Amino acid sequence: MDTNGTNLIPLRSDFTEKSDSICILGTGDFGRALGFKFLQSGFSVVFGSRNPGKTSLLPKGVEVLSHEEAAGKCALVIIAIQRDHYGFLSELTEVLDGKILVDISNNLKVDQYPESNAEYLAHVVPGAKVVKAFNTVSAWALQSGTLDASRQVFVCSDDNLAKHTVMDLVRAIGLTPQDKGSLLAAKEIENYPLQLFPMWRLPVYICAGLTVFLFLYCVIYDVVYSAAVTGTDVSFRIAISIPNKVFPIVSLMLLGLVYLPGVFAAFIQLHRGTKYSRFPNWLDRWMLCRKQLGLVALAYAFLHAIYTLVIPIRYYARHRAATNVITQVQKNETNPFLIVSAWRSDSYIALGILGFFFYVVLGITSLPSVSNAVNWREFRFVQSKLGYLTLLLCTGHAFLFGWNKFLYIANFRWCMPPAYTLALVIPCIVLILKFILILPCIDKRITKIRQGWERSSVAIEDKKFKNGHAAI
Ligand code: NAP
Repeated sequence: MDTNGTNLIPLRSDFTEKSDSICILGTGDFGRALGFKFLQSGFSVVFGSRNPGKTSLLPKGVEVLSHEEAAGKCALVIIAIQRDHYGFLSELTEVLDGKILVDISNNLKVDQYPESNAEYLAHVVPGAKVVKAFNTVSAWALQSGTLDASRQVFVCSDDNLAKHTVMDLVRAIGLTPQDKGSLLAAKEIENYPLQLFPMWRLPVYICAGLTVFLFLYCVIYDVVYSAAVTGTDVSFRIAISIPNKVFPIVSLMLLGLVYLPGVFAAFIQLHRGTKYSRFPNWLDRWMLCRKQLGLVALAYAFLHAIYTLVIPIRYYARHRAATNVITQVQKNETNPFLIVSAWRSDSYIALGILGFFFYVVLGITSLPSVSNAVNWREFRFVQSKLGYLTLLLCTGHAFLFGWNKFLYIANFRWCMPPAYTLALVIPCIVLILKFILILPCIDKRITKIRQGWERSSVAIEDKKFKNGHAAI
């Protein structure tokens, strides 16, 4: 029996060997790049063109014929032409009947047409087996061989056999096919190349917004206030001190924002008494970008760690330490050793180190190569339990840093509280809500809901039961 590369699906009898030619209609950039790749992989390629005579840019060893002649020679035809020009294919319906027709086209805008290009092609050539593929690979990547960023080829079709034939072809040229199901998925696949970091947009906006806000807050709190009230110029703080406040604060806020949607979702499920109703759109979007939020938070934590390491070599820090010693010598007295301060300082550093360590563990386990190597339960343990532990440690770190500064009125400059208090708001809300959720009575209810229990169905059963009794 003839089988494909995976020995699973029997191939079509009319497209089995590499010696079978592949037809590419259109000799533009993408048609040429794809044709070249097929040739390199040992296939023979026939191009169909409006001008079969003009072949100077085509690789050696290919045939160039008219559209009709080229399509007539092959069982698999790739349409490397813009959708706007598909009209001429209606004249080839007879020759294309029963053949595999691969649509590789993209659009200029998301949802540019009411139906996908592949569905439109199926409409123009109703007898063909239309498969959507290759549109997420660029001509440049195919030619240069730097395929790392676009090795995946999304494939979909209403004809299963045609789809698997194309998936084998994808594998044969060193790419990775991804089965996306029926032709209904074509629209989504056509939108992929038009999206720019879709999952990163929201986290980056949130992060940029918080960074700008907190930077300005700290500049006003530290630099502007000192200049205006005491006449001291501490503008040098803008280089290291202020960024080293902004990075950990934003990092902690973002880490809180990673876990906040999860607790919101739990409360919504508790309130609705079911897990079978959709979350609001904003919550869905938020939940989907938690990984990206966490990675941005980790990047900021790294920056905080690096900025902290340079503190001892700063002129300002060295000058302050030296001045302190000289003052003690001049006064002929030693600052007392305060055991509480020693405890506070050591605990603050210890919590920071441990928090950062678990932060890194969380980041590493979110890498696909690592998360693929653990099972769902292990992944959940790391991302949920260790995640909350990280949040707790980092919140403790920030709390010990600020300690009781928020109690002193002098620390409220122009009614602005010290910046570290802002960092504590979101994590404290998350931790308090989580604490409520893990109370045994609430945890039991939420676990039941997540196992499929519904309050409404119980109410209906109760009603039926009561009605039954009343009837008796
Ligand atoms: P292109 O360089 O403009 O080439 C398109 C080819 O279509 C032309 O060379 C021409 O071939 C043919 N053509 C033009 N007008 C026609 C008409 N009125 N009737 C019949 N054929 C016509 O475009 P391309 O970059 O190769 O893109 C081709 C398709 O691949 C597009 O749908 C695009 O969205 C998709 N795609 C491109 C890339 C990429 O990186 N370029 C990546 C993914 C997908 P002949 O002169 O030989 O007839």
